[in-house]
Amino acid sequence: MEPNADVLVIGAGPAGLTAAIYARRAGLETTVLEKFVPGGQAALTDAIENYPGFTEPVQGMQLTEAMRKQAERFGADFQTAEVQGLEPADDDDGPHAVRLKKGEVRGRTVIIASGARHRRLGIPGEDRLWGKGISCCAQCDGMFYRDKRVVVVGGGDTAIKESIFLTRFAKAITVVHRRDRLRATQALQDKLFALQDQVQVAWNSVVEEIHGEDGVTGVRVRNVQTGAEDTLDCDGVFIYVGFRPNTEPFADAVETDEKGYIVTDDAMATSAEGVFAAGDCRQKVLRQIVTACADGATAAFAAEQYLEARRTVGAEADDAGPRG
Ligand code: NAP
Repeated sequence: MEPNADVLVIGAGPAGLTAAIYARRAGLETTVLEKFVPGGQAALTDAIENYPGFTEPVQGMQLTEAMRKQAERFGADFQTAEVQGLEPADDDDGPHAVRLKKGEVRGRTVIIASGARHRRLGIPGEDRLWGKGISCCAQCDGMFYRDKRVVVVGGGDTAIKESIFLTRFAKAITVVHRRDRLRATQALQDKLFALQDQVQVAWNSVVEEIHGEDGVTGVRVRNVQTGAEDTLDCDGVFIYVGFRPNTEPFADAVETDEKGYIVTDDAMATSAEGVFAAGDCRQKVLRQIVTACADGATAAFAAEQYLEARRTVGAEADDAGPRG
C-alpha cells in the first residue's frame, strides 16, 4: 500500500509543529493532522515568560501561530482530521496506517504529538455545569467573570498562573489547594501572594461538590485535616489539577505507562518501529513548550535516520540483486 507521506505528524502543538519544521527541512514529505486548530494547549496560555529568546512575555497564540507559519513556509501539509487509531506496519517497509474519523492516511513514519488535556475532579455538579460556569481556560472564559467571585482548584503552575491572569477580571479569587504548600514555582507564588487583596488560598482543602442549576452558585469545600465542611459562594470554578495524555487511540499500538503516557527512548522512538512520540503525550520529567519543541526536533531527526537506514538497506539489496 502506498504511503501518503514520509512523516505523518499527529497533533499541531509546539511538538508537532517543530517536528514538521525539521522534517520538511530534511526534505521529507510531511503531513500534520490536527483535530481543531494548530497551537495546542500552548496557544491558550497567556504571557509565556520562560520560552527562550523573548525578553518580554510572549502570548501563547502568537508563539504557536509563528511556529505554524514557519512549518507552512517549509511546505508542511496541514489537514484537519480526528485520529481514532494507529496500526503500525507489520513488515519493515510497509506504511503505518492512521485511522481517521473519516477514512485513513498512511505514513512511512508517524510522530505522535497529541499532547494532553486537563484532568477533571469527578465530583457532583462537574459534568452538569461544565461550560456553564466551570472552565479550564481562563484565557477563553476569564472575561465573563468581571467583578465576580471565582474559585480556582489546584496548586501547580497552571492553577497559579491562571489565578494571576484572572485577577484582571474577577474581584475575588479563592485558590483551593489540597496541601499546605503550593507546587507552583517560586516565581509564580511570589506574584500570586503579591495580589493578596484579590486572592486568598484555602489550604488543605478539596472541592467536593459544585452547586448550581443553570450556572455555578458555589462549591462545597472540605478541610482534609479537620474534616470541616464549608460552602464558598462563587460565580465560576476553574479546575487545574493536572493533565491526562491524549493517547487513547494509540494504546494498542505503542507501549504506555500506568498513566497512559507513551514510553520512548532518548530518540523519541516508541515500542513500534518507525513510530515516534514527542511532547506532553510522552513519559518525561518536564512538560514545557521548550521541551516539547526539543522532542519534536529529535523525533523528526530520528524519523529521517530511520528512513535513511531503510533507503541504504534497500539500495544495497538492489545493488546485490542483479549480480546474483
Ligand atoms: P501539576 O503540576 O500536576 O499540578 C496539579 C495540581 O493539582 C497540584 O497542585 C496537585 O496537588 C493538584 N491536584 C491534583 N489532583 C487533584 C485533586 N484530585 N484534587 C485537588 N487537587 C488536585 O499540573 P499543572 O499545574 O497543570 O502543570 C503541568 C506541567 O506544566 C508542569 O510540569 C508545570 O510545571 C508545567 N507548566 C508550566 C508553566 C510555566 O509557566 N512554566 C505553566 C503551566 C504549566 P499536589 O500539589 O498536592 O499534588
